[in-house]
Amino acid sequence: MKRLAILGSTGSIGTQALEVVAAHPELFEVEVLSAHSNAALVIEQAKQFRPNAVVITDDSKYAEVKEALNLYPVKVFSGRKALEDLVQWDTVDMVLASIVGFAGLSSTIAAIEAGKPIALANKETLVVAGELVMQKAAEKNVPIIPVDSEHSAIFQCLVGEDFNAVEKVILTASGGPFIGRKPNYLVNVKASHALQHPNWTMGAKITIDSATLMNKGLEMIEAKWLFGLDNKQVEVVIHPQSIIHSFVQFKDSSVKAQLGLPDMKLPIQYALGFPQRLTNDFKRLNFKEYSKLTFEEPDYKTFRNLAIAKDAMFKGGNVPCVMNAANEVAVQAFLNNRVSFIEMSDIIEETIAKIDFIERPTLEEYEHSDSEARLHAADMVKKSQLAS
Ligand code: NDP
Ligand code: MG
Repeated sequence: MKRLAILGSTGSIGTQALEVVAAHPELFEVEVLSAHSNAALVIEQAKQFRPNAVVITDDSKYAEVKEALNLYPVKVFSGRKALEDLVQWDTVDMVLASIVGFAGLSSTIAAIEAGKPIALANKETLVVAGELVMQKAAEKNVPIIPVDSEHSAIFQCLVGEDFNAVEKVILTASGGPFIGRKPNYLVNVKASHALQHPNWTMGAKITIDSATLMNKGLEMIEAKWLFGLDNKQVEVVIHPQSIIHSFVQFKDSSVKAQLGLPDMKLPIQYALGFPQRLTNDFKRLNFKEYSKLTFEEPDYKTFRNLAIAKDAMFKGGNVPCVMNAANEVAVQAFLNNRVSFIEMSDIIEETIAKIDFIERPTLEEYEHSDSEARLHAADMVKKSQLAS
């Protein structure tokens, strides 16, 4: 029996992880659930899954959750510090890091420090502090098993392989809802439109990142750290059908890929069950329904965020952290109709230019760069014509 801490249980990944848990009661037990402010859903989840503890990080929702679970044998905590403590409990066997954004970093690091295996959905953790996080994981001998579908694909291709035999990895990208569009179209797109992803149903932040291709940029950096690659060993190809989840090319020219229908429950289940492959009743891929799988070069000029992220990966240091913070602010502002689609890239670019470069930041320096970048980006949001 694996006892799980599911961080961000009310999100898209969190709720799908609970479906996987419910389908395998003989293998998984929920020890900890965490939500930020969705009290109603986390209360319902706690009643169903009976975890030992629930954390609601938004303090103002604590009383509501505490009262609702009064008659249940579930401990209720609030705040970020509680999250960092609970992932270290002896009764936790694995942590699913599925909080969105920089907010997921500290609990992931706390779990690694306590030697807990991580199923990692929160890609921002590796974008912000990949070097430091992977170093800590190596020191503590902690496996980090990717949940992100592309990285799960690469991970699955690498089982039984020597990492030194990898020539490069090729991340596939659907291209998002605006594939083939040009800047003159993108200036007018609204959040409601950008939220319509063709192949995947996901949380709002990653859906916007998929529309700008920032998601693929974040994933390049995630892949670099996760698999210990040089910048030049990470490539991207647009594959609109989202059937091939990524490729690995080896030094003998052989290429492996992992395929499947776009359903996040598969990589979630693979990470939770690893090294076992678990049986399920997910829909099977029928090749006859996909007679054409196509591939093309990304349009870096139109989707500037992908170029910005690639450049940030090459620059290294605190640049990906600054970029991530500016992106989080920009995406939130876009979701609130306070900046345009195109302005998101302007905000990120200018923020990177403004914040001092640090080559090998400490955790405190990452936190400082993150805050500084957020302040600068928020200032730029205020200056947007849409904001006023
Ligand atoms: P959602 O927005 O759907 O869910 C986010 C979760 O994090 C919610 O449980 C939310 O709680 C919680 N949360 C939000 N802000 C905070 C905070 N400040 N402190 C603590 N908890 C917080 O996101 P997704 O599930 O889509 O994504 C989660 C992560 O997984 C992201 O990093 C994303 O990039 C990655 N990922 C997601 C994929 C997907 O298919 N969705 C695919 C690959 C990667 P509440 O509901 O209470 O606000
Ligand atoms: Mg992905």
